[in-house]
Amino acid sequence: MAGYAVLAYPWWVSLFFLLVAGHLTNICVTLYLHRSATHGGVRFHPVADHAMRFWLWLTTGMVTREWVAVHRKHHAFSDREGDPHSPAVEGFWHIVLGGVFFYQRAVRDRELLEKYGKGCPDDWVERNVYSRHSFAGILGVVPVCIYLFGVGLGLLVWTGLAIWMPILGNVINGIGHSLGYRNFDTKDESRNIYPFGFWIVGEELHNNHHADPRSATFRAQRWEFDIGWIYIRLLELLRLAEVVYARTLTASEFAARYYRDNLAGPLAERLDRAAAGVEGARAQAAAGLERARDGARAQLQQVRRGLDHARAGARTELEQARARLDQARDRASMVLDRAKVSVEQAGGPTRLPEGLEAGG
Ligand SMILES: [Zn+2]
Ligand SMILES: [Zn+2]
Repeated sequence: MAGYAVLAYPWWVSLFFLLVAGHLTNICVTLYLHRSATHGGVRFHPVADHAMRFWLWLTTGMVTREWVAVHRKHHAFSDREGDPHSPAVEGFWHIVLGGVFFYQRAVRDRELLEKYGKGCPDDWVERNVYSRHSFAGILGVVPVCIYLFGVGLGLLVWTGLAIWMPILGNVINGIGHSLGYRNFDTKDESRNIYPFGFWIVGEELHNNHHADPRSATFRAQRWEFDIGWIYIRLLELLRLAEVVYARTLTASEFAARYYRDNLAGPLAERLDRAAAGVEGARAQAAAGLERARDGARAQLQQVRRGLDHARAGARTELEQARARLDQARDRASMVLDRAKVSVEQAGGPTRLPEGLEAGG
């Protein structure tokens, strides 16, 4: 068999192959299944569309309509009863380790597929190959892997490819709704796992996506990076993609316009500040009142003291006046006595003139 196991040595070639193939799968999941087929933020040229659908059939066995329907229902019921795979409802480890089983349970729901799976491809190849024989592609890759890497390594590489998508889904659905930071106070528990969207091609920015699901770009802050958006722009340059909608507002502008809860933060802050101001003014007024009362009390005491002082002064003056009067009376009676004596000595009338009676 010419060319058998040509890529088996050195060992890292198979790892590199797996990483590149996995990255391609991630690109097809986020660009085609997620941003285009589910949310319609971008449209692809049929060439790009078919290439991605083929690659997904080859490496994941995912049926577009099923993936789209389950994901749309996830958006409709995010982290509430009815969400097909919510760590908030089902538990973190159930989704991180077994999210794929929740997905499989959801796709068995015909009603769900009918209601949420509208507008998905329904051409001949979809009906007769991708949907009807969804796992034929990934099984067909087994001999290719064995051919390229030999039996042992080939099966290992194939297993890596086969579990790639379930792991990716579990990470996004589990961690993307439990751990990380939030730019937007969405009603769900969505989180940006970290700001550098490279490994899972921008799906790391899951809170940004839930805030504005239709946007073809998942980036919201200047310091965030979404390689998926870079790929879309490149495909656009090649005329293989047409962006239908991509958010241009900054995170804060977008939150201010569409997320009332985000406004609640600054509004509550303003209310708190106003309440603190009112409280401060009230305390100031109370202190002023207290000061004024103290001042009035002090003034009253001063007035009282002044009054006491004046009363004491008046009493002293009265006593002094009385003393002077007594002295004057004493002097007058002395003068009278002396006058009486003089009159008697002179042998004059014994009667005193009117008004000079003794004790008068
Ligand atoms: Zn989500
Ligand atoms: Zn989505």
